[in-house]
Formats: sequence, C-alpha cells, structure tokens
Amino acid sequence: MNFQLTEAQNMVKDTAYKFAVNEMEPIAKECDREERYPKELLKKARDAGLLGVFVPEEYGGPGFGFMEVALVTEQLSRVDLGLCAVVLTTTFGSENILFFGNEEQKGNYLPLLVNGEAVSAGAYTEPDAGTDVAATKTRAVREGDEYVINGNKMFITNGTVCDWMVVLCVTDQEAEKRHQRQSLILVESDRKGVAATKIRGKMGIRASDTAEISFEDVRVPAGNLIGQEGKGFHQLMHFFDVTRTMVAAQGVGLAQGALDKTVRYVQERNVFGKPLAFNQGVQFQLAEMATRIELARNVTYKAAYEIDQGRIDPKLNAMAKYYSGEMAVWVCDKALQLHGGYGYIDEYDVQRYYRDAKVLEIYEGAKEAEKLTIARRLF
Ligand SMILES: Cc1cc2nc3c(=O)[nH]c(=O)nc-3n(C[C@H](O)[C@H](O)[C@H](O)COP(=O)(O)OP(=O)(O)OC[C@H]3O[C@@H](n4cnc5c(N)ncnc54)[C@H](O)[C@@H]3O)c2cc1C
Repeated sequence: MNFQLTEAQNMVKDTAYKFAVNEMEPIAKECDREERYPKELLKKARDAGLLGVFVPEEYGGPGFGFMEVALVTEQLSRVDLGLCAVVLTTTFGSENILFFGNEEQKGNYLPLLVNGEAVSAGAYTEPDAGTDVAATKTRAVREGDEYVINGNKMFITNGTVCDWMVVLCVTDQEAEKRHQRQSLILVESDRKGVAATKIRGKMGIRASDTAEISFEDVRVPAGNLIGQEGKGFHQLMHFFDVTRTMVAAQGVGLAQGALDKTVRYVQERNVFGKPLAFNQGVQFQLAEMATRIELARNVTYKAAYEIDQGRIDPKLNAMAKYYSGEMAVWVCDKALQLHGGYGYIDEYDVQRYYRDAKVLEIYEGAKEAEKLTIARRLF
C-alpha cells in the first residue's frame, strides 16, 4: 500500500491551492453576499488548467483521473465551497458523456468544457423526485427522429448559466420495473421551450448558480440520447458513485479550511490573559477536528483511487460522502464556536464555511440515501 501522492499529483494540488488563494479568496466574500456567479473566474481556471481535469487527452483534456479531481476539489474547497462549485461543476452532468456517450458526442462536447467555452449541468431532481429520483416525471416522447420533452427540474446547479444539460427523463412509462423507465438526454439550453429561473436566498454556496428548469414541448434530436434508452437510472447511479466522492473531497477541503482559520485565531485571541490556544480544552477540540478530517481524507482518497483503478465500490463512495459531509458540519460548528461572537458575523469567513457545509449532507444524495446504500451492502 502506497499513501504517497505522485509528483504530478502534488503539482496539481499546489496549482489548485495557489489558484484558490490568488483568484478565489479575494472575491469569495463579495460573491457570497451578492449571490454573484463570477463568470470571469472560468477563464482564469482554464488558464490554470483546472477545467475538465478528468477529460482524456484525445478530447482536449489533461487526461488525469478522479484522484486528481478530488485533489483539486479539496484545495479549492479549503478557500470557498461556492467558488469551488463554480469552477468544478462546469463539467457537471457531462461525466455521463465520457462514461456512456458515443465518440461523436465526446468529440463535440468535452473539448468545449476544457476550453472554458461551455458550461454544463446535470438535471435530475424534480419538485417531487429528489432522494427518490426514480419517481421522475419529466417525459421524453419519441416522435420520428426527435424526443419531445415536458416536465420540471429543481435545484439545478448551473441552470441559468449552462450551455447544455444532461436530463433524466422517462422514456418508457410502461416498463415493468421503475428503474428501467428512464434515459439520459442532452438538452441544449437555447432550445425552444427551455426556461430557467434562478433560485435566490440559498443558505450557502451562494456564488454557485442554482435554478428551477421547465421544459415545454422541447424538441431535441434522437441522437442526443446518452447511452442506452431505459438505462438512464443505472447510468445515473454510476455517475453518482464518482461525483459523490468529489463531494466527499469538498467536505475534506472545507473542514481543513475551517480548521486552518481556527488554529490561527486561537493563537491570536487572548482570553483570561492568555491565548485561547493555551487551554487544553481548546487543544483537545482542535485535535479531534484534525483527526476526523484525516479520517475523511483517507476514505475519500481511497474511494477516488479505486474509481481510477476501475473498481467502483458504491459502499465505499457512500461512506466517503456521508462521513465527510457530517464531519464538515461538525468541524465547522466547533470552528465557529471557538471564534465566539466574532465567528457569528460575516466579516469572519468561518460563518460562511458553517453555512456552506450543510449542503454537503443534502446534495448529490442526502446522507440518509448514502446510509441506505451502505446498509444494503451489509445485508
Ligand atoms: C444547492 C443545491 C444544489 C443542487 N444541485 C443539483 C443539481 O445540479 N442537479 C440535481 O439534479 N439536483 C441538485 N440538487 C438537488 C439535491 O440533490 C436534492 O435536494 C437531494 O437529492 C434531496 O432531495 P429533496 O431535496 O427532494 O429531498 P427529499 O427527497 O424530499 O428528502 C428530504 C429529507 O428526507 C430525508 N430522507 C429522504 N429519504 C429518506 C429515507 N428513505 N430514509 C430516511 N430519510 C430520508 C433526508 O434527510 C432528506 O434530506 C441540489 C440541491 C441543492 C440544495
């Protein structure tokens, strides 16, 4: 067993952290306060080589694996989860194109993501189908060489800024098993009948764009089907196995960032005539925070490593996401507590970390869904 990162992985990690400090930190507070999606960040991320890290060289990418995506995710999340989402979800949903798309689709779409010329989205959740994503109602009916799509999607990251989205649709309402009814279909956002409405007032990751989408008689060529008709649900579960591991990496990075800030703060803040850090009770808390972060990091790296070896383990990925999300919420609570009243106002970043962390227990599968995945494999 080798726990060492390679030279290339260390380089990617350093590049990502420098980018986060130089390009993200200066705008993080303002983007959070104003719910601003900073489009200009994408060109800078492209120049730093941080877009489409997993895209193979034949489609214009650097050809790294998901271990490298996890490392980049961790470093960007250390500084700001919302801006991390802005940069790294430019490819969201299009992992499906890499996993299941045909050569033409890969050649047409993936290079645009690496070049920062396009942004994608993954549209699965509906107003009445979140955790139970198989309850999807959005219909895609085949008419000649086209699908005609009708329905609504909810909470879609990049919904108002994307160029296309990969949409989970019901294509066979009569299929015996409900998991055989869906397909993944690529829908360009400028198609007639597509409407996106930005959702404002999010608790955290406020720089990231989130939208409600409606499809009204939207016509797309049948060639926009990704993978096989009727396999959409299973394809989506494969997609989530990968992307949930990246959410786990978000938790590791965010918690590390909160700990870094707290370690600095308790050495500077004097209480009862001495720095807070001199209290053993404070040191114990920092030690527990650091330990839990390291545990989450290890399970996350293992899950990412296994993905790159072609040994996807849904139980391990679910463990990584559930544990890391819960850990991040716990660490941020401690971090804010140790900042006292100062931690509660938005001049200090720790309250942003605290608000941002919660979504890690909700999106890409609420933590209860992860626990069901784990439990199912125990029986
Ligand atoms: C900021 C943000 C960005 C998002 N981005 C995207 C995106 O890009 N694309 C997309 O498709 N979706 C996206 N989502 C949606 C997200 O994946 C869903 O919100 C999530 O899957 C939960 O679904 P729901 O909100 O419908 O909750 P529900 O399914 O209504 O569940 C509510 C709660 O009940 C609990 N619960 C549910 N089922 C069970 C069970 N069987 N046993 C025990 N407890 C249970 C969980 O705690 C859950 O949080 C995003 C959400 C947010 C907040």
